[in-house]
Amino acid sequence: MGGTFDPIHMGHLVTAEEARQQFNLDYVIFIPSGSPPHKRNITITSAEHRYLMTVLAVIANPYFAVSRYEIDRDKPSYTIDTVKHFSEVYGQRAKLYFITGADAILEIMTWKDYSELLSRCFFIAASRPGYPFRKLQELAKTVPEINSSVRFLEIPAMAISSTFIRKRVAQGKTIKYLTPDPVEQYIRKNKLYVR
Ligand code: ATP
Ligand code: MG
Repeated sequence: MGGTFDPIHMGHLVTAEEARQQFNLDYVIFIPSGSPPHKRNITITSAEHRYLMTVLAVIANPYFAVSRYEIDRDKPSYTIDTVKHFSEVYGQRAKLYFITGADAILEIMTWKDYSELLSRCFFIAASRPGYPFRKLQELAKTVPEINSSVRFLEIPAMAISSTFIRKRVAQGKTIKYLTPDPVEQYIRKNKLYVR
């Protein structure tokens, strides 16, 4: 599961856990992005903070792990490079699934080498409030690669986003239960997201 994870929250975790169970995955690897190509103009928190918050969030789950692959690269990280890397690490026999929200898949045709990407791994598109599957289903009808590679995953609706959490912190509002306690404590301790 790739993401900026700025910060990681319950929406990510519920999505990953549901994907793991529904698709019988051995484990889920969270891959915080280095400098996300689509977020180049937005100030994001340092990769090290985002990585550590992701580790704190998944530490107790034996099926969850975190990869430093994208944050340790000095080039911008494209999903195609990451997928190629993990194919090499796990070999041809491993079946790779890239877990994303339905919102992300709607933009997949703007991703680098999207056609090759879709042929190299399955994509799990998780439902997300505000991004109906209908749009994605329509897109799949016209793009055969999307049709054959994207799997839909209905998850309990979680209208949580990292943007929402960052705003709440800046406004001095509580973020309890939106993200795991250790992540909340890490945010407070390091004074992240305060203006
Ligand atoms: P931001 O608001 O900064 O864009 P975000 O909450 O969308 O943050 P990302 O790190 O951009 O988090 O998301 C990583 C992946 O998780 C994306 O594929 C996104 O669609 C998915 N995702 C994030 N939040 C949810 C949610 N509440 N339900 C389902 N999928 C989600
Ligand atoms: Mg997002």
